[in-house]
Amino acid sequence: MILLEGIDKTYGTGSIAVTVLRNIHLEVGRGEFVAIMGPSGSGKSTLMNLIGCLDRPDCGTVRLDGMEVSQASEGQLATLRNRTIGFVFQNFQLLPRMNALRNVELPLVYAGAAKRERMKRSREALERVGLSDRVEHFPAELSGGQQQRVAIARALVNRPKLLLADEPTGALDTRSGETVLALFRELHKEGKTVVMITHDPEVARHADRQVRIRDGEIVEDTAWRRGGA
Ligand code: ATP
Ligand code: MG
Repeated sequence: MILLEGIDKTYGTGSIAVTVLRNIHLEVGRGEFVAIMGPSGSGKSTLMNLIGCLDRPDCGTVRLDGMEVSQASEGQLATLRNRTIGFVFQNFQLLPRMNALRNVELPLVYAGAAKRERMKRSREALERVGLSDRVEHFPAELSGGQQQRVAIARALVNRPKLLLADEPTGALDTRSGETVLALFRELHKEGKTVVMITHDPEVARHADRQVRIRDGEIVEDTAWRRGGA
């Protein structure tokens, strides 16, 4: 599903250049549930942006669902993202002037789905995360946990093969966090590939595989121990 080989990523140039990722090799098979863990600033979100084709590496290969990213045009990447990936961004990233339903509908608008279909699927996605009674609420009228669930509904509405979630429980209390993790488990059981970024080892334990990154390098991958990947 995901293959990263020899990836480096540097931000800035010259004397202010900061190398954030170094020689990253990571392979994630279809249907895996992987946690990427590491301290603040270690490069987790940068890695997610590369996996999600929101950014390109300085060198190395990124393959996603069979497509070689370095050779794809921006248009092809946009299509790939829209069809294949559901993103849950760090800090929700909901649009404040749109209610829950409109936020969830957005990926379908980009995908060019018809209005009736958009409404049906957006309502289903909100039902899936237990928010059928909050469809007309605006983000400011929702709790943190509810906003996070709206963000997850939005990530699911396109029925993506891959769910990429950056700190999906970071802003939540333990109980709301558990609800989110239970939902991820369910999605994994249904066959989706789930990649979840977290700084919290307790949260990472819910995944089947843990990849640890420190100062831009993968220092541990439980798949190594099993001799896989
Ligand atoms: P956190 O747990 O705090 O979210 P993270 O592991 O997700 O941290 P990243 O957001 O990937 O970390 O950032 C890694 C490093 O790259 C940080 O030192 C950050 O300052 C730097 N960085 C991130 N984005 C940019 C950018 N657009 N321009 C310059 N530097 C950046
Ligand atoms: Mg981050």
